[in-house]
Amino acid sequence: MMINFGAGPAHLPEEVIQGMQTAMVNAEGSGLSIMELPHRGSAFKMILEELNGLVKSLLEVPDNYEVLWIQGGGRMQFAMLPMNFLQPQTTAGYLDSGFWAQDAMQYAAGYGDVIALGSSAEDNYGYIPELEIPHDRELSYLHLTSNNTIYGTEMQSFPDVSFPLIADMSSDIFSRKVDVTKFKLIYAVAQKNIGIAGVTMVIIDKAFAAKGHQHLPEILQYRAYMEHASIVNTPPVVAIYSCLLHLRYIHKTGLNTTQQHNEAKAQMLYNFIIENNSYLRLTAQKDFSKMNVCFEFINPVYNKQFITFAKQNDIVGIEGHRRVGGLRVSLYNAITLEDVSKLIEVLGRFIIMHR
Ligand code: PMP
Repeated sequence: MMINFGAGPAHLPEEVIQGMQTAMVNAEGSGLSIMELPHRGSAFKMILEELNGLVKSLLEVPDNYEVLWIQGGGRMQFAMLPMNFLQPQTTAGYLDSGFWAQDAMQYAAGYGDVIALGSSAEDNYGYIPELEIPHDRELSYLHLTSNNTIYGTEMQSFPDVSFPLIADMSSDIFSRKVDVTKFKLIYAVAQKNIGIAGVTMVIIDKAFAAKGHQHLPEILQYRAYMEHASIVNTPPVVAIYSCLLHLRYIHKTGLNTTQQHNEAKAQMLYNFIIENNSYLRLTAQKDFSKMNVCFEFINPVYNKQFITFAKQNDIVGIEGHRRVGGLRVSLYNAITLEDVSKLIEVLGRFIIMHR
């Protein structure tokens, strides 16, 4: 089997893949394939209840929050957020920490005033910019990206602010503990640390959701997803079920152990890159991500050669994003220490061959 270090769709735990295989024929003993399971039936109701329960227990989500499952991916959240909570004459703040942060900001620009409260764009997003909080204006919300998938930087702490705090946690959700009560809304796309593409998890403060605009079609209102327990239309049952299998897997170890495991994996790889600084260098300057490690060979001809060499050694998904180049190794929860050791061994062999 190949080791997939891709940033998303990412490597899935073996038991998620096997669980999906079983459910393709018989989902949770219902006698029906997960692909034909009725979305208003009791089996799917139980799937959603267990899934929401796992999210709440893993992240210690208080009762004044709701967990929602919405289609359309990250970009749908980029759009729904301003549609629901921004209007002409009101302002939203965005921390411009990477491509996805900037994309989210651009989606909002048509709905009201949008300001960047700090940006590292001029330094190729090599670090998390300092947050500059305005004291002369109210913000409808303040949007952060906890982990910048493309640039390999990650926020280590979150600010205390008087405005509703929103976070895109797509690429580091369930990789570490987080204080949900700091946020009014957290969203995370599937296909990294949860399930397969087709659904996005949203954790929203109920009172905040109720303040969203009402003139929108239901399919775009957080309130409607809350009132209809995520079943506003036919939901992506297969993708949602894959999230349940994935969270059952994470729940077995718990978030504390998962976090330690992720720290150990990242440290091992960063140490190797730093120790081999005659050949390799990190792309980011600081705020290094534990989920996406971005680096490159100092001699650029070796990047492509290494990608080919890695593939011959059953390692895939390590190309850097096209905006950055070089290499990117994603260390989501399903990646093991042994997988990282194997990568390091292959990198070491390549370096010896080219000394
Ligand atoms: N936010 C982050 C942090 C991402 O890494 C991505 C890419 N998976 C997105 C948003 C965009 O998600 P989607 O492709 O589902 O629109």
